[in-house]
Amino acid sequence: MRTLTKIHELSDVLTDQIAAGEVIERPASVVKELVENAIDAHSLEIDITLEEAGLQKIEVRDDGDGISTDEVLTAFKRHATSKITDRKDLFRVKSLGFRGEALPSIASVSNVTMVTSTGKTGAAVTIKGGELVTQKPAEARRGTTVTVADLFYNVPARLKYLKSPNTELSKIVDIVNRLAFGHPEISIALTHNGRELLRTAGRGDQLQVIGSVYGMAATGQMAPIKASDADFKISGYVSLPALTRASRSYISVLLNGRYVRNFAITKAVIAGYGSKLMVGRYPLAVINIEMDPLLVDVNVHPTKQEVRLSKEEALSHLVRTAVAAALGDRNLIPDGWDNL
Ligand code: ADP
Ligand code: MG
Repeated sequence: MRTLTKIHELSDVLTDQIAAGEVIERPASVVKELVENAIDAHSLEIDITLEEAGLQKIEVRDDGDGISTDEVLTAFKRHATSKITDRKDLFRVKSLGFRGEALPSIASVSNVTMVTSTGKTGAAVTIKGGELVTQKPAEARRGTTVTVADLFYNVPARLKYLKSPNTELSKIVDIVNRLAFGHPEISIALTHNGRELLRTAGRGDQLQVIGSVYGMAATGQMAPIKASDADFKISGYVSLPALTRASRSYISVLLNGRYVRNFAITKAVIAGYGSKLMVGRYPLAVINIEMDPLLVDVNVHPTKQEVRLSKEEALSHLVRTAVAAALGDRNLIPDGWDNL
């Protein structure tokens, strides 16, 4: 059956809302995109402030490059990015973002204010439901603050689908932890309803970040791992068999600094323990993998957490042997056990 409506292009606001469905699933997605932008802007300090698990307010403040006043509105346009220019860049992406979708998507489903400055002039814009509300000059303090209020106010179905505030908050904490693991050189703080949940020192020490996230006692129970071959360089930390959890979600895999979900590598980490783990117990681990960006396709999914790897089997083998080596020459009673 053919309706009377003619074929026509959808409005920008509508296409942004459709894209938002893929990129911005929940408050944690907003936090992820904004913090990734702050990281890409070479920030040294990132402050994340939440109210009501991000449903009332998410604010991300950074001291990074900022956006020049004449480009602020462009940043909110669909597929507008400063991070890639041509096709060959797409296969060599080093930044966390590159699709130019986050800001327009967020702005289409919330009430966003951005205050930003490169240090010369400052600009403040407010966009609600994808429509510009105000644009004015602001203080020229270098950096960017993005405040997202009333998330999904115009997408009732999305609001309904969200889980309890506690669950949404734990998803935010989870993603912030993993971003912090990937960037020990940045001091990252997370505050919820006035209570500080995380603060990393920003001194470039990944073990220190692991301590801020899992507690300082855990750091005495982590073994460093190191391995490389022609294609991959692996580093990071794995917990000694005495320190385990009931879920595998404490294994973080960072590919060129980007947190990814990858079943094969996670499985390889666990396999590296051989028979040292009890049934149903999993280690804590932070695995950094450095590789030629040409060997990984991050453009598989809008959130970029799923990636396609060439040489996945060789990499898994390297990870498994690196983990086994890190644990192998240690006594099963770990160092630092008595000062726990
Ligand atoms: P992407 O990150 O994929 O480029 P976004 O929609 O997230 O797309 O951001 C669009 C552009 O806005 C970025 O390419 C960047 O130039 C600019 N931008 C966004 N957030 C920041 C920030 N915190 N600091 C500096 N520039 C930013
Ligand atoms: Mg981005």
